[in-house]
Amino acid sequence: MPANALTAANAGSGKLNLLGLPSERLAQFFEGLGEKPYRARQIMRWVYQRHVLDFEDMTDLSIALRQRLGGVAELAVPPLLSEERSADGTRKWLLDVGAGQAVESVFIPEPNRGTLCISSQAGCALDCSFCATGRQGFNRNLTSAEILGQVVYARRQLEPAEVTNVVFMGMGEPLANYRNVVPVVKLLLDDRAFGLSRRRVTISTAGLVPQIRKLADECNTALAVSLHAPTDDLRDELVPINRIHPIEELLDACWQYAERIASRQITFEYVLLDRVNDDVAQARQLVKLLRGRPAKVNLIPFNPFRNSGFACSAPEAIDRFWQTLRAAGIVATIRRPRGDDIAAACGQLAGRVSDRRRVRLGEKLSGADNL
Ligand code: SAH
Repeated sequence: MPANALTAANAGSGKLNLLGLPSERLAQFFEGLGEKPYRARQIMRWVYQRHVLDFEDMTDLSIALRQRLGGVAELAVPPLLSEERSADGTRKWLLDVGAGQAVESVFIPEPNRGTLCISSQAGCALDCSFCATGRQGFNRNLTSAEILGQVVYARRQLEPAEVTNVVFMGMGEPLANYRNVVPVVKLLLDDRAFGLSRRRVTISTAGLVPQIRKLADECNTALAVSLHAPTDDLRDELVPINRIHPIEELLDACWQYAERIASRQITFEYVLLDRVNDDVAQARQLVKLLRGRPAKVNLIPFNPFRNSGFACSAPEAIDRFWQTLRAAGIVATIRRPRGDDIAAACGQLAGRVSDRRRVRLGEKLSGADNL
């Protein structure tokens, strides 16, 4: 086994978890065993297309190779802690990622598609003031195996229903875990693995500008940006990363990104908070930022959680905000809450984050020893 493969070995079992390994790494692994690199393709087909995780069941590998693989490697998805089903068909899984941490993934069935929302971190450090995950603090980045394991797990559970879309809108900030997220995105897009189209894999970010720029070079998948406010003053409060990368800088990176992607459009998420960011004047400010640009807006009625300190905008306010955008020629949709009866809606995912380092970006940036 090559040395770099060993570094990914699962600390618990001492075996290398092959899940989520980039195809070149997998080929190297087989070369290290004295096998032909095409074995990587065989394994990828078994795991990502047929959802088979037991080497014993991989009938086009020799029995000797299956046994050898069982000795040195594994295909481990995070174990299930609990599952909930919403009245609207949404399903939520709480998966154990060890040491008291658990993350959530959510499947949202719709008539013509099935969207899986996955987590990229245990907790989150970005401290957006209206997000339940942010309140938990941050524990750690998930590994590629833990991120991809959520997709494999869901697909096994859901068969014959299909996961047609994957969105990184669960717990955590995917671009703050860039190193582990990008290999997952590549496998989601790879025809030898999941083979999803670029438009069906969406990374959602609070606005990590350097990583947005880098991503455009590496895998230009669909991008959603959590804007939530039309001015820096307000965005500084709601999304503290804005104090490092303000709106103008963020939008500039977005327009450059849009030129590189097939859909040529960035989705801007805008959570509607009662009397905070939902009046018509603010909708007009938003229009000024986005008009004539490759942008569409996804308005998200705020999903409440305990002690959030925010309320959802009134239906009339939501409608007025939407109408103002539309009248100005901006494509805007209102996201219908799904799975809110099982706390599976946007921003409600709390998982279990124990032993968190109290990294709260907002506090850190307001403190005396500023960054
Ligand atoms: N860190 C990424 C992914 C987070 S969650 C990001 O910020 O984009 C996906 C979306 O849910 C984000 O737009 C986030 O701002 C939004 N969200 C967070 N809390 C919410 C809440 N309580 N109600 C509605 N949307 C929320």
